[in-house]
Amino acid sequence: MNASEQGHRAVRQVVCDDVVVCNAADHIDWSAQTVQFLICEDCLYVGCTPGGRVAIRRMDQWVVIIPDFTAMLESDWSSMEYRPPTWMAKHGALSFSRSSWKLFQAACGKAPSFDSIAPATTSELLRLYHFQAPRAFLGDYLSPSLAQWDLILCTSGQDTGNDVRYLRKLFSDPTIFDRHEICPPHLDSYAVSAFLDLPGIPEWLIFSSESDPTVRLSEDIHFRLIPSGLASIEGSQSQTT
Ligand SMILES: [Zn+2]
Repeated sequence: MNASEQGHRAVRQVVCDDVVVCNAADHIDWSAQTVQFLICEDCLYVGCTPGGRVAIRRMDQWVVIIPDFTAMLESDWSSMEYRPPTWMAKHGALSFSRSSWKLFQAACGKAPSFDSIAPATTSELLRLYHFQAPRAFLGDYLSPSLAQWDLILCTSGQDTGNDVRYLRKLFSDPTIFDRHEICPPHLDSYAVSAFLDLPGIPEWLIFSSESDPTVRLSEDIHFRLIPSGLASIEGSQSQTT
């Protein structure tokens, strides 16, 4: 820490798969609204440098480390100030089972207990889905209305038209959904992919093949949306047209 003339100080880093997730675990302010995982290495003061920010949420039996979408959406300034760490932009959000969260807590000291963590909201789940979508399809994950629908060649579901209609609902801004449940897809369903008009025709796993799909965030974590009253009326109309 030569820049702040504090000499050398030992810090604990938390590393997952060779990626430094927290660069100074003992200096994290866990009580902050938006927790900073990557802290200024010159002074170790939270907030000295922008970015490196996360939100910690529960999704049923998982703890997830995700971008703090609500904070980022406040203004252009906050979208930069509260942006997630570069590792998250590159590798995606982090999820922990109850037991792996215990290991993380032990490594970090003051991280909140599994049961004290607030559940993710429906809006956060959908924003996370946008964040995890291929960047070529949605470059600015905070602006789902900018999705490149022309890139979708087809899906592996029963009916590409129906699949794209449902996908468009997932990218509606503001969202038409206000409730969800975290649940696995039915055993007799399969994962539907969208194929993109790009070199190599990349495959993007979007949701399950059920008529009321479970939306995929990862291999393990899925959620099903429960439409609000108005949305269900719109939904039944769009299915018949
Ligand atoms: Zn600093």
